[in-house]
Amino acid sequence: MGDLANEFSWSRSRDGAFQECKRRYFYHYYGAWGGWDTAAAPDVRRLYILKQLSSRQQWAGRTVHDAIELALHGLRDGRSMPVEPFVADVIERMRGEWRSSRDGRYRDSPKTAALFEHEYQVDLKPEAWQALRENVATCLRNFFRLPLLAEIRRTSPEHWSIEHWSKVFDFEGTPVWVAPDFGFWTAEGRLGLVDWKTGGGFGDASFQLGCYALYARELLGVEPKVVDLYEVNLREPHVTAHRWDDERLEAVREQLRLSIRGMKAYLADAGANVAVLTDFERTEDLRICRWCNFRAVCRPEL
Ligand code: SF4
Repeated sequence: MGDLANEFSWSRSRDGAFQECKRRYFYHYYGAWGGWDTAAAPDVRRLYILKQLSSRQQWAGRTVHDAIELALHGLRDGRSMPVEPFVADVIERMRGEWRSSRDGRYRDSPKTAALFEHEYQVDLKPEAWQALRENVATCLRNFFRLPLLAEIRRTSPEHWSIEHWSKVFDFEGTPVWVAPDFGFWTAEGRLGLVDWKTGGGFGDASFQLGCYALYARELLGVEPKVVDLYEVNLREPHVTAHRWDDERLEAVREQLRLSIRGMKAYLADAGANVAVLTDFERTEDLRICRWCNFRAVCRPEL
């Protein structure tokens, strides 16, 4: 197999990592590169394994996203989806993943469930895990009850896009990755793009949703005025519909340009995407370090 090249691209999560801590960004996007190979240098392999860790909340969120994807496939194929057995199945799978993570399987198979709490031996009461399971069950029950789901089901399933639409498009010479969770077309010719949210719901989602609008414009050729962006908080449950226009889309483009320029300015060789560890400073905010995957190599004293 030929060597994979580490080419520069942009994504919302990459932007988030860059904003939080430059050193963490380096470890994630450069230091861990190639660590999927068991024969990689031990420090690279270690970074790669740490990179895979998820906090329990991230893990719960991914579990809900995957389960919804499965449910939508079933609904599209006309299968009946009894809610409680479906939820029980998901919880059972979670138990298996939790055990696998607790037993450290991810150290040999980094793509299996890997929880930050296990790697860093965070002392959690059983009630914390129970609350997490309950949150997953609540989100899924709420999903099945959503009026938006009923609305989606009235549309034609052959126009659904169920898999996380992780698609790349070219933005002024930079590949940009954007992944709406779900997309559908209404009978009136409007495109709905959905973002399922399972967390506490704080934080400004407008940049992320704006990137979806940009994705619709650049990749699908759909004008912002016919796109509805749905931010679905599954915990409440609460749906917020956002509309976009050309002016706001231009603001998203500008934010994207700034972010890309900022990241490239840190590179030793922007053309070849070469980064040097010492150019990427560590954050001063130790609260960020506490929950950072790379703490063991970066700030072991914590
Ligand atoms: S431990 Fe702190 S300084 Fe180091 S990479 Fe993580 S967040 Fe950054």
